[in-house]
Amino acid sequence: MARQQRMRVELPVVLALGSNLGDREATIREAVRAIDALPGVKVVKASGLVETPALKPDGVDVDAPAYLNAVIAVRSAIGAAELLRELQGIERALGRVRGIRWGDRTLDIDIIAFAGPPIDEPELTIPHPRANERAFVLAPWLEIEPDALLPGHGSVADLLAATGEHPDPYPAEPLT
Ligand code: ADP
Ligand code: MG
Repeated sequence: MARQQRMRVELPVVLALGSNLGDREATIREAVRAIDALPGVKVVKASGLVETPALKPDGVDVDAPAYLNAVIAVRSAIGAAELLRELQGIERALGRVRGIRWGDRTLDIDIIAFAGPPIDEPELTIPHPRANERAFVLAPWLEIEPDALLPGHGSVADLLAATGEHPDPYPAEPLT
């Protein structure tokens, strides 16, 4: 008789974090800790921080406070939809008020890539639909995964080169 087995498959996931309100560095640091503390989720690598001007639907907004961003590689035993719910819980716990899309925020966590087939649902699109053109995602991602590929778009190195942008590194102690 076949014995029932509990498989615990850990899939590679790439997450992007951003903050442009409050103590941005402390918030991102706290978020990385909270993600690592989620049951079934482990932070494997974290990039350095980069600082870029706020991007609004109409373009760069130099009057809005600048963003700090980072990318982390994690392994997840929980599925993408459940992970998104957990990440939104962390956003709320760290003070995010969900308001205007693209609005200033204490913390934004996006799922950039999740091993497996693409997902295209109203609440969850994977790969993230704008990651391919965001230097503040691509540059930190490249730093931790030099051979990274964004499914459907190609190599992260090529995508970053195509943006023509070089986000400023922001000096800080390592996130992990
Ligand atoms: P944005 O990150 O686009 O500035 P929000 O963080 O407010 O805006 O997210 C808006 C919605 O995007 C969320 O309610 C979430 O359901 C949805 N969403 C779709 N795909 C993703 C993804 N890959 N990662 C995170 N959120 C996503
Ligand atoms: Mg988001």
